[in-house]
Amino acid sequence: MGEELNNDVEKHTQNPRARRRRRGGRGRRGNGNGNAADWTPSMFQVEAVAGKHRFHDLGLPDTLLHAIADLKFEYCSPIQARSLPYTLRGNDVVGKAQTGTGKTAAFLITIINDLLQNPSPPERYAGEARALVIAPTRELVLQIADDARHLCKYTELNVHTLVGGMDYDKQRRRLYDNHCDILVATPGRLLDFCGSNDVFLDRVEVLVIDEADRMLDMGFIPQVRRIVRQTPKKDYRQTLLFSATFTPEVLDLAAQWTEDATTIEIEPERVATDSVEQKIYITETSQKYRLLANLLSSEELESAIVFANRRDQCRRLEEQLSKAGFSVGLLSGEVPQNKRVRTLDNFKSGKIKVLVATDVAGRGIHIDGISHVVNFTLPEEPEDYVHRIGRTGRAGKTGTSISFACEDDAFLLEPIEELLGQKLECEQPPAELLN
Ligand code: AMP
Repeated sequence: MGEELNNDVEKHTQNPRARRRRRGGRGRRGNGNGNAADWTPSMFQVEAVAGKHRFHDLGLPDTLLHAIADLKFEYCSPIQARSLPYTLRGNDVVGKAQTGTGKTAAFLITIINDLLQNPSPPERYAGEARALVIAPTRELVLQIADDARHLCKYTELNVHTLVGGMDYDKQRRRLYDNHCDILVATPGRLLDFCGSNDVFLDRVEVLVIDEADRMLDMGFIPQVRRIVRQTPKKDYRQTLLFSATFTPEVLDLAAQWTEDATTIEIEPERVATDSVEQKIYITETSQKYRLLANLLSSEELESAIVFANRRDQCRRLEEQLSKAGFSVGLLSGEVPQNKRVRTLDNFKSGKIKVLVATDVAGRGIHIDGISHVVNFTLPEEPEDYVHRIGRTGRAGKTGTSISFACEDDAFLLEPIEELLGQKLECEQPPAELLN
């Protein structure tokens, strides 16, 4: 793919200034919803409750509030309640928050509010982004862009995504046809577009760096540095940086990239004890597949994500389950992006009942109504356990997580228990699941 990309880049580098002078198309005109103009904030009734913050009280533009009402968000989540008072005034924020806390909406509401309050320049160039969100994985980028489109539905703002593994020319054409208000991208593909003069970052008003710790782990920081250097200096842009953990490296980057930032720390999700029943089955490695197949056939299982640590394990599991007649999809880094998107859509619509995923691919997937999470192998990072089981027990429902602990990985339970602050009871699987 590298070669293919380079050819592409070369093609587009010819005569960059001419390209740049070309104007992007107009923004989208609303969403075609005939009733949108009649909506007033009084139609979004949310009772005032002591200690809770309503979106009404933030002075947001009606078009944004209307979209929030459609999403049925009534009160701000803690990260939103604590960050929005600063970020809506244009201040920088460094936030410690995991997925599931509502951090995406926190930064998107900030961006959309800024873009709506500050009129766009009279003449804009194609590919000139007003707000930029960088995230480490393609899934996360697509998820953020999806959330952004929901929140922008009553505005004329355009959301663009740039991710590797998807059609370069299509992404490029979209940038030429529509103004670029919010650009959500993975670092590598974004740099390709900057290098070919298809994207310009020197007018970025709001920069969001999401999952900074993951970017560090994945070795993306040199690329992110190059991206940040192309945006206006930090006192001319607003910068929001989020990370699930605050390591010295993350804090060092935050200090370099933000100006007088307010630091906000939200405690890790406590999903574990609240809405997810956690079971740990002691198994032998040789029993695991049978146990899994029997579990997936049981009646109370509506839909499940099965996690394994490595891509090859996921691939093998998906093949075995598929041969055994399960409707199953694979979500891992080795699956082409468009196929992954299709798989997710099929899972969301219920066409696929079981998804086999790696941690990176499964992270940040927000689908309500998943009844079970199965840890075929225990994760090496305790935080990944919390992320995995947090895929169920969402949106007020309860869920079940079942982890297999075998002779090879049972030692990984202790750090997980430490992180959760609770003991996980191990049990023998019911006999009928071993038949
Ligand atoms: P995030 O942490 O950004 O990945 O968001 C987790 C989930 O919470 C997403 O499904 C959001 O749609 C949802 N969400 C975000 N903010 C709120 C809110 N204020 N009220 C209810 N749900 C929310």
